Amino acid sequence: MSQLDESQLAPATRLAHGGHSPDANDGSVVPAWQPSATFARDDNYALRDARYNYARYDTPSWHPAESMLASLEGAQDARLFASGTAAGAAIVQALGRGDRIVAPRVMYHGLRAWMIEYCAQWGLQLDFFDAAEASSLERTLKAAPMAMLWIETPNNPTWDVIDIEAAVALAHAAGARVVVDSTVATPLLTQPLALGADLVFHSATKYLNGHSDVVAGAAACRENDAFWQRVVAIRGSQGAVLGSFEAWLLQRGMRTLSVRVRAACDNALTIARHFEHHERISAVLYPGLSSHPGHAVAARQMRGGFGGMLSLRVAGGREAALAAATRCRVFLPATSLGGVESLIEHRASIEGPDSPIPGDLLRLSVGIEAVEDLIADLEQALSA
Ligand SMILES: *Cc1c(COP(=O)(O)O)cnc(C)c1O
Repeated sequence: MSQLDESQLAPATRLAHGGHSPDANDGSVVPAWQPSATFARDDNYALRDARYNYARYDTPSWHPAESMLASLEGAQDARLFASGTAAGAAIVQALGRGDRIVAPRVMYHGLRAWMIEYCAQWGLQLDFFDAAEASSLERTLKAAPMAMLWIETPNNPTWDVIDIEAAVALAHAAGARVVVDSTVATPLLTQPLALGADLVFHSATKYLNGHSDVVAGAAACRENDAFWQRVVAIRGSQGAVLGSFEAWLLQRGMRTLSVRVRAACDNALTIARHFEHHERISAVLYPGLSSHPGHAVAARQMRGGFGGMLSLRVAGGREAALAAATRCRVFLPATSLGGVESLIEHRASIEGPDSPIPGDLLRLSVGIEAVEDLIADLEQALSA
């Protein structure tokens, strides 16, 4: 059988095949799980495969998911980490003392809190811009020299859309690297590297794995340069690495990414349209609605859908929002996102007292259930 040229295949096909051809020895269609922590040398005391010495640095278990991600993102290299946070931390830690980072004011709160603490302690400068205000990024970028622009789009939990190409042009003119947290967009809906970003980052806990049963992270680079090599070296030396079984589960989850993302996008758009003019809802935040301020950019930047994440602002305010979240039966009242099951979350309660998130906001991670069940569940929760 002649080899297929992978690059000629659509992302859905590449994913379904899992970055793996049938094993040459036994024909297995699924890659093996390789739990070995160490790798024996041959008669010349040489490594049999130069990549594998000790599993904190590299293991065959990581490669199916890494090669699928590199292929989808058009990346020269992709690497797994113990969590999205570990991947993000390695990227920030690859910067030097005195370097300046610019990031959105509303972004994934855990990483934001870590960045604030890390930058203060280790002498990096951190400045925030307002992704909902057109001139804020340019103003913040121009205020001082900078090393890195960190963006998240659509960003959590208002789903403001940042124009990656425009942000890259501004940041590159200032000599800065651009990192995109593309967790919510997934590699199917947006390809940040093709839009000029230098690094792309995912919490693989979310859509990539898709079954809420693995905590994992991933990062990929447009160019395998010295900065990227530093990120990879930090993974090995600090040891925030993914267990081999979790990596195996992740590659299994990724095989169905295209059908899961399509179903979640379709359901989210249907829910957003249903509640857009609802008496109990004061606003629906979803980039797929033409009323959303980021819709025009999203329509250009996102292909095949606007994602499975949306937020509802409840007309009755904080108490009504909390009560509705508690009354849902199909939507589970849990944090996280990107799983096959729908989740609902009162974001301000999760983030705590210093959260910039309004108290009337409910964040929905829309799963792949029948959309009529999801709508009926929200209707009963809001009407009580
Ligand atoms: C969950 C999440 C993270 C953090 O990833 P972990 O895997 O939980 O460490 C970062 N960014 C976004 C957008 C997320 O949703």
